Amino acid sequence: MAEEACKLLVIGGGPGGYVCAIRAGQLGIDTIVVDEAELGGACLTVGCIPSKALIHAAEEFHKASVFASGSSVLGIRVSGAEIDLARTVQWKDGIVKRLTGGVAGLLKKASVRTMKGTARFRDGKTVIVRTAEGEKRVRAENVVIATGASPIELDGLAFGGDVISSTEALSLGEVPEQLAIVGAGYIGLEIGTAYAKLGSKVTVVEAADRILPLWDDALTRPVAKRLAALGVDVRLSTKASGRADDGLLIATNEGGSETIPCDKILVTIGRRARTGAIGLDELDLTMSGAFIEVDDKCRTSMRGVFAIGDVTGEPMLAHRAMAQGEMVAEIIGGHKRAWDRLCVPAVCFTDPEIVSVGLSPDDAAAKGVDVTVGTFPFRANGRAMTLERDDGFVRVVARASDNAILGVQAVGPGVSELSAAFAIAIEMGARADDIGAIIHAHPTLSEAFHEASLGVLGHSLHF
Ligand code: FAD
Repeated sequence: MAEEACKLLVIGGGPGGYVCAIRAGQLGIDTIVVDEAELGGACLTVGCIPSKALIHAAEEFHKASVFASGSSVLGIRVSGAEIDLARTVQWKDGIVKRLTGGVAGLLKKASVRTMKGTARFRDGKTVIVRTAEGEKRVRAENVVIATGASPIELDGLAFGGDVISSTEALSLGEVPEQLAIVGAGYIGLEIGTAYAKLGSKVTVVEAADRILPLWDDALTRPVAKRLAALGVDVRLSTKASGRADDGLLIATNEGGSETIPCDKILVTIGRRARTGAIGLDELDLTMSGAFIEVDDKCRTSMRGVFAIGDVTGEPMLAHRAMAQGEMVAEIIGGHKRAWDRLCVPAVCFTDPEIVSVGLSPDDAAAKGVDVTVGTFPFRANGRAMTLERDDGFVRVVARASDNAILGVQAVGPGVSELSAAFAIAIEMGARADDIGAIIHAHPTLSEAFHEASLGVLGHSLHF
């Protein structure tokens, strides 16, 4: 069997793994990254990027349809709007190709060796990689597990045929006439909103009594309102029970069942850590439920074996995986590092978008922290009005004793781009007074952050 040796072997070339490998390469660490699929992982190939491409295309088509219907308040009228989804998917695939090619280039520039194949532990320092040319044994002083997560299947609705996961939903050849979605988390609602805008009749079935359980009621209300305006039928407290010839079976409250007619059933009920194929049983690592347990340096229970990204649990977000990857590379390079981040921004790219950074008022109450909350609505923000969308708000949560900003949430058009300002404020220890004293450009949505901070101090100017 062919054999290679290195100081660091990274299993998985997603945002966690490839960032770890690039930083390690920059530090002069002899590194190999192995992936059985495309470099870039779920995020670049079937997650963050392709979903945002579809969301953008859907929004553009929706605008054109509104113009064509003659109902735009802007007075714009065009004749007819059509979509060639196959071409949209081709465009999306072009972006994915550019990005995955870019990752390969960055790894090469950092002198990282890449290997295509499926990795399986033999022991903590030896991994067997099944490649197209046969098996290779890789001996490594350190191994980083960055194998990510994959979509969870539902009993009675196994993936295949018309029952699809987000991966297939992002590459459909044509817009389904009727789409049923099981699960009203962010992935289901982002994709569901996009297809509603593309013209599908969308029904969302959710077992819980509310959509987007990670965000509070005030934040999700504008999203629920918009879903209704787009004609999306959201069935809460409803369980999907299986497949019928012509659609999705749901259980009724009376103990019977009803069929929701549809051409495709998209199941988005969560993602599970990908630990099955890597031979974890050879290592006997301590687990935290289905995820690999790590400490504040992303060390597992075995010396020299680290784990980063989705395989370590929530929040399963690309930027968290990247931050962990960078940190682990520096630890292996001898730097003194530990996970000391105050917040991981979470963005939901629904319509409108939701951002949550740090503590919400509910989180603060649960922790027994006394807070002052300042809220500023976009209906009092000139820029939001010029964008035709003045629903939503920015909310600042500050410690009552000294106005230190502990959390910021927002819902509104394009608020994802405000997430950096919110995170900077929290990580740099800003107080509401600091944000209130900074000039925010007019007219911008960011003025709502300024005003909500002034709200904490009790003197918003425009509300
Ligand atoms: P992954 O990106 O999952 O990468 C793991 C890699 O490991 C894969 O390439 C896989 O092929 C490889 N691998 C697994 N097992 C083996 C093995 N045995 N041998 C070799 N290779 C192996 N996050 C955000 O932050 N923002 C978003 O907007 C967002 N949108 C999303 C939309 C969708 C539809 C989905 C599905 C996810 C989205 N996510 C988003 C989540 C994001 O994609 C993940 O958090 C991120 O990709 C996790 O990175 P990772 O490096 O941990 O794992």
